[in-house]
Amino acid sequence: MAKLLIDRETCTGCEACVPSCPFGALSMKEQIAVVDEKCNFCGACVDVCPVSAITLEKDEKKEVFATSAYKDVWVFIEHEHGKVSRVSFELLGEGRKLADALGCKLCGFIFGKEVEGFAKEAIAYGAEKVYMTESPLLEPYRTDPFSCAAVNLIRKYKPEIVLFGATIQGRDFAGTVATTLEVGLTADCTGLDIDSETKYLRQTRPAFGGNIMAVILDYPNYRPQMATVRPKVFPMPARDDSRKGDLIREPLPMTEDQIRTKVLEFIRGAEAVNLADAEIIVSGGRGIGSSENFKVIRELAEVLGAAVGASRAAVDAGWIPYEHQVGQTGRTVRPKIYIACGISGSIQHQAGMKTSEIIVAINKDPEAPIFKIATYGVVGDLFTVVPMLRDEFKKRLGR
Ligand SMILES: Cc1cc2nc3c(=O)[nH]c(=O)nc-3n(C[C@H](O)[C@H](O)[C@H](O)COP(=O)(O)OP(=O)(O)OC[C@H]3O[C@@H](n4cnc5c(N)ncnc54)[C@H](O)[C@@H]3O)c2cc1C
Repeated sequence: MAKLLIDRETCTGCEACVPSCPFGALSMKEQIAVVDEKCNFCGACVDVCPVSAITLEKDEKKEVFATSAYKDVWVFIEHEHGKVSRVSFELLGEGRKLADALGCKLCGFIFGKEVEGFAKEAIAYGAEKVYMTESPLLEPYRTDPFSCAAVNLIRKYKPEIVLFGATIQGRDFAGTVATTLEVGLTADCTGLDIDSETKYLRQTRPAFGGNIMAVILDYPNYRPQMATVRPKVFPMPARDDSRKGDLIREPLPMTEDQIRTKVLEFIRGAEAVNLADAEIIVSGGRGIGSSENFKVIRELAEVLGAAVGASRAAVDAGWIPYEHQVGQTGRTVRPKIYIACGISGSIQHQAGMKTSEIIVAINKDPEAPIFKIATYGVVGDLFTVVPMLRDEFKKRLGR
């Protein structure tokens, strides 16, 4: 059994160790530091003690026991503006495979003012249990109460794996939770699976600017293993409203005066680009030639009710903002129809769009790699073909 030893003779009562403990296990008694049963033997306090009064006697067996207490796969059920984010359901689909490989339960966790309806949706998409914390302080999203609620649940119920969408909310919140728990977090994963030998989570993500795909395994003595995953990387699982699951409620251990931010107003960005949710995307590449020429792409997109995408070459040329970029270092998309105009189809572009249901490629070079993955290919000048498509769709769709 590991032991945290505090030398009463050396301790000066400076209190430096107290805030360093991520588990709140240290306090002062008669001006000497004391440790209680919440201690996880992480050693954070050892390094901060200015007089080396704290020592940690490690015992490997205890650590194995401690991490083995962590089980189940948890998915954060994110919601905004009255709707659950699609990525949460995608993660439930992938989480199911991980839970089956580990022989454990798949659970959701959700925070907000009144979220029981969303929790039931998570069950319909595969969660066996959903942990819920409801409070007026949890609407709208703020980092402090969300991370407090999550840390509280994770410490109490000890999940082995925790997954978040790599959304604005998920990226902000997962980082805070990981820092508070002093565990690792692999951001922006594009693949997840279970290592058949060690049973650890294998987290795949692009590294070194996207030039290699790195497989990351967490340090064995720290749990949970945490990752954020981009929307649209995994397919949507089937919804089944007849599924049954447990709802577990936990209170929020925080009051308004402990929260450092107030939301005064929510202002949507003027040019919100919703590539992730678009069913049809019309994308332009270097073949477009200028920012003015993107008009051709926008006009077709408008007729089809589609979002406008772009290759990195078009973004780098300054013809269209980065928010439109599709690919390894841009957005990953999975629309029903992806129309690539003047895009050669580099590996990096394909990484963000090759799982689209139907790919239409318009390119004047019959050897362009995009034709290898295209469902339909048109060899021709985009400035002739795209306006023809626009006019024909306009006629047929009556727009
Ligand atoms: C680490 C890294 C990350 C990257 N990440 C991304 C990423 O996220 N997304 C991305 O897109 N790229 C990314 N790239 C860049 C990628 O390698 C390519 O350079 C880029 O995708 C090329 O864009 P493109 O297809 O528009 O241009 P090009 O490869 O130059 O292709 C232009 C195509 O337009 C065709 N064309 C020209 N004129 C016409 C016309 N009038 N009518 C029809 N066709 C025409 C040409 O035949 C050609 O096939 C990344 C690269 C690296 C190294």
